[in-house]
Amino acid sequence: EQEGAVVGRETRLRVVLRVRPLTCTETRRGDRRVVHSLGDGTIHVSAARHDATFGFSAVFDAGASQEAVFEGSGMRQLVELAIDGFSCTVFAFGQTGSGKTYTLMGPLLAQSETQPASPALLGLMQRSFACLLEQSRSRGSDLALSASYLEIYNEQVRDLLSPGPPCALPLRWSKTHGFYVENQLSVDFESLEAIANLLLQGSQRRQTSAHALNRHSSRSHALLTINVRSRAPSTCPGKQGTLCFVDLAGSERVKETGSSGELSVEANNINRSLLALGHCISLLAKPRGKRTHIPYRDSKLTRLLARSLGGSGITLMVACISPSSHCLSETLSTLHYASRAR
Ligand code: ADP
Ligand code: MG
Repeated sequence: EQEGAVVGRETRLRVVLRVRPLTCTETRRGDRRVVHSLGDGTIHVSAARHDATFGFSAVFDAGASQEAVFEGSGMRQLVELAIDGFSCTVFAFGQTGSGKTYTLMGPLLAQSETQPASPALLGLMQRSFACLLEQSRSRGSDLALSASYLEIYNEQVRDLLSPGPPCALPLRWSKTHGFYVENQLSVDFESLEAIANLLLQGSQRRQTSAHALNRHSSRSHALLTINVRSRAPSTCPGKQGTLCFVDLAGSERVKETGSSGELSVEANNINRSLLALGHCISLLAKPRGKRTHIPYRDSKLTRLLARSLGGSGITLMVACISPSSHCLSETLSTLHYASRAR
């Protein structure tokens, strides 16, 4: 089996950890640093009543640059595997404010529109696009590239590239296609500027609803998918890889309750989809023979990702945490989730 030869278990699922620096607010408040990297992919959490060590494929601590995360996470290999026809998925997981969006995109949205982010701060996405286009050029532009950008909010799927007012798109299933989103836009691109623009427009659309709807962006999952098709007649027909970047909703346990005292529908949906995702990933990480049924149907998120996660899917999970004592319980919950996936 070709796939087995190229993709070992370590490549099929990698879980890496990124610890962001303390923010100004945290420093001013006098928060203590409770997370310490021990080197060798291991981190140690120490606080009153907590003393635990966790291991990852790689750990990036507060001093790690965006470039170091790109190179050290195996992201470059993922891009190459997508070109070779594999389905690759990158997740950023963690509580709100832990650095998921920063890791994937850099600070580009936080800055004024007239001032683009410094190239050194560009995230995994832009670095992957550059790598992809570089490869395409070196192969005589024989790669056909297209992008789609979706958001799942409250179990509703929205197209972030479609210019009209936001509307929910139906998620369907067919024997030939598996799960797919009806009327989803897919936009061809050939340059770094074009895909960077799509990313910016889509992300701004996501931000806009963040203002309209209370904290919407941290409560929604955003999925950017790049389809990579080989145009060369020499390669096997229909060889198509994908590279999917998922900025997951904040994983914090939401305690907000509605007037009836019930956990809000929104919070329930997030908890359910993150649980379903963790469950699918941990099953997929098992050796093929030992796999049981994978419950993709449990959430819209896992249905949408069924194709990229299943089959020859390759997954990179970047767990993001704050080093602050203030975030201890959410940090522990992220670390447990990430180790369970592994
Ligand atoms: P999330 O998407 O998980 O809610 P963000 O990516 O928006 O979190 O990060 C929260 C804040 O911390 C932002 O102001 C961001 O710029 C900053 N930040 C996150 N990670 C880093 C990092 N590694 N280095 C510097 N600043 C960071
Ligand atoms: Mg974010």
